[in-house]
Amino acid sequence: MRQRQQQTIQSPSELRGYGLFTNAEVRVRFLPAGEHHGIVFQRVDLADKPLIPALVDFLAPEERRTKLVRGAASVEMTEHLLAAFAGLRIDNCLVQIDAPELPGCDGSALWYAEALLNAGIVAQSAPRDLLQIDQPELIEDATSVLHAEPGEPGLWLSYSLDYGSHSPIRPQSAEFQITPETFVAKIASARTFVLEQEIAYLRSRGYGQKVTLQDLLVFGPQGPIENALRAPNECARHKLLDCLGDLALAGCDIQGQIRAIRTGHRHNHELARRLCQAQRQASANGPRRAA
Ligand SMILES: [Zn+2]
Repeated sequence: MRQRQQQTIQSPSELRGYGLFTNAEVRVRFLPAGEHHGIVFQRVDLADKPLIPALVDFLAPEERRTKLVRGAASVEMTEHLLAAFAGLRIDNCLVQIDAPELPGCDGSALWYAEALLNAGIVAQSAPRDLLQIDQPELIEDATSVLHAEPGEPGLWLSYSLDYGSHSPIRPQSAEFQITPETFVAKIASARTFVLEQEIAYLRSRGYGQKVTLQDLLVFGPQGPIENALRAPNECARHKLLDCLGDLALAGCDIQGQIRAIRTGHRHNHELARRLCQAQRQASANGPRRAA
């Protein structure tokens, strides 16, 4: 990927749905925004309609999803929408929402991608910041590895998972060069997945009361319940989608090779933080990014 022009959407667009965790009905409006605006959420249901930029500085710890907080305002389940922005290379957009959680849609980023494509994508004059990974970064723990290193031009993401022989989710992997074409064709439609017992646990805590077996992939012992996989490696593709959305919090294009093994949001967030830190240091020390 070479440095490119920033992009926004051509006209407003919207979608409605409900939050998978909070069950709250939510209306999401996408509005065109100027150069260097970035992706910014706006809670139009709160007094003063606070703005929350989609950047690592506003990350808040939360299980199983990516939550952003600024002052008393928050927005969660941002990762699938952020993946759609990153995948389609839309850099500037105001996202107005009237609830604290983005809609779960069908568990994937497909509805978001369709809403944004329907709005049209237009180039702006200013160049998009490009962060070239020029030294390896490794984040690992007992079960997971997230490794970033210099690579071929562009952003390459791979994801592998193996939950063991007792899991109904088979070992699988996915690898793509991230372009708008691969995002739309291979990544956007991959859905969130949970085990039957996990959803039972979440429901016992008051979450996901409205969720049906068609809103995401629920795995029983024999595989997806009342549902069919959209690809044999749909789970790996979805985890890759989550990673793409979380890394978008760096606020720039990333160039390099990122390999993930059984990682989750917290690993992705840590990598996004480190990449941002590297970028800030590089800016302070002189040009490293492509000019
Ligand atoms: Zn996800």
